[in-house]
Amino acid sequence: MSKFIFVVGGVMSGVGKGTAAASIGKILQSKGFAVTALKIDPYINVDAGTMNPVEHGEVFVTDDGDETDQDIGTYERFLDTTISSVNYMTTGRVYQTVIERERNLEYGGKCVEVVPHVPEEVIRRIRLAAKRAKADITLIEVGGTVGEYQNILFLEAARMMKLAAPREVLFVLVSYLPIPGNLGEMKTKPTQYASRTLNSAGIQADIVIARSERPLDEPRRRKLAMFCGVAAQDIVSAPDVDSIYKVPLNFEKQRLAELILAKFAMKVRRGRDMSDWKKMVRTAEHAKRTVRIGVIGKYFSTGDFTLSDVYLSVIEALKHAAWFHRVKPELLWLNSEAYEKNPALLKELDDLDGVVIPGGFGTRGVEGKIAAIQYVRTRKIPYLGLCYGMQLAVVEFARHVAGLKDANTAEIKPDVITPVIHIMLGQEKIMATKKYGGTMRLGAYPCVLHAHSIARKAYGARAISERHRHRYELNNKYRPLFEKRGLLIAGTSPDRKLVEIIELPQHPFFVGTQFHPEFKSRPTRPHPLFREFIRAAMRNR
Ligand code: GLN
Repeated sequence: MSKFIFVVGGVMSGVGKGTAAASIGKILQSKGFAVTALKIDPYINVDAGTMNPVEHGEVFVTDDGDETDQDIGTYERFLDTTISSVNYMTTGRVYQTVIERERNLEYGGKCVEVVPHVPEEVIRRIRLAAKRAKADITLIEVGGTVGEYQNILFLEAARMMKLAAPREVLFVLVSYLPIPGNLGEMKTKPTQYASRTLNSAGIQADIVIARSERPLDEPRRRKLAMFCGVAAQDIVSAPDVDSIYKVPLNFEKQRLAELILAKFAMKVRRGRDMSDWKKMVRTAEHAKRTVRIGVIGKYFSTGDFTLSDVYLSVIEALKHAAWFHRVKPELLWLNSEAYEKNPALLKELDDLDGVVIPGGFGTRGVEGKIAAIQYVRTRKIPYLGLCYGMQLAVVEFARHVAGLKDANTAEIKPDVITPVIHIMLGQEKIMATKKYGGTMRLGAYPCVLHAHSIARKAYGARAISERHRHRYELNNKYRPLFEKRGLLIAGTSPDRKLVEIIELPQHPFFVGTQFHPEFKSRPTRPHPLFREFIRAAMRNR
């Protein structure tokens, strides 16, 4: 039987609820407990796959092919486990199940009601995830903030669980304490309101995590305790840190795991120690040399603000790999559309040690990416292309090396005469019937590596498994020509029919993967391809 910790947010989103949940999991793991974590997204979408990246951020793909939220990625990185689709739910997903069951007469002719049937389905999913993971402790992060209309049913589920087993369920409120510039003083009132809003859903926070720019001081701790109805020692100070990987160490210093275990009447066991983690944090902190990596994309701006959340796992994978080599990653966000307007800008790539083009969709910015790929290929700047970044590298190679001037991906030009990247078998029908949701080639597939490839050496294995999210693939018709012109097919599906990795042996480091290696990088275990990419980038400095 698992214990359950609900992590809910107050005041505003984006204050690191996912990191807080993952960090709680991490320190509990270090005390010897099996931990798993779930993410609840209150929106109607069944998964994150159909959402605009600027709106949603990264779509994190699991081994079992679910298109989830970036917090699932944070859990995988912090807990160093593989999280499956049962750990992710949305309002859409919950309702879909309830309605399907109703249609199948599974409610035995009862009137199916929002309460209790919807929260009951939520509870069923939470318990199932706990059971599958054989967890001692299960964390459930409720997306959004308390008081939002759309997460009421999830809070109701949490309340019902607490009511049924008061000693098995805890509530952590992660709330923000602003320090308005004109006042220069940390304000507790918004958090007091958040706590009260939580109360009105029938829930009392057991622990408050006080997120702020600065550490919480004593007067404000007392105030919060008084107004939120928690003991002063049950408030955790969580000031901004320069690396999210420091958060578990901060929690550990405040003995948060002991606090939680005491509330569950559980004793500390011998667990996974965090020495690797501490070492990683220290290395990152003390690294002196830097490596400059350009990430070329298009999903960067919303209004006046620049977001890089869309590429979160890529960023983390680059950091892990850099720290492995004891260097600081300096990441530059380059907008590929700028290269279309002004090709002279490509010169800025000369100042970089390496270039990454991550996954993407659609036409915007594509020619700029292709121009950038040509630039790094001919200037021998290390290149790592991920999914779209691989496909566009193939287009570039086809146009400028293999002599197929009009080559393109069918994604952009469906009627192109030389579709070097074409739609996968079966996908056409899916697109024609608009069955877009969850129908790409998703999740983990095996891949075998060419004996004399960078990939083979990097992985140190012949067969690997990586995660995918795409509808298009390299067109096998052009394989013989490409190979003749010097493109190495470095990895394929075991039946050799699907190209998974391309390399250019004449180049210091030019690797493109149809899959997304970034999803499997871990802070203390960088992904082999990112690791070798950074090694090459450092050589290029
Ligand atoms: N748009 C491309 C495809 O669907 C690449 C997808 C991606 O980069 N994830 O195949």
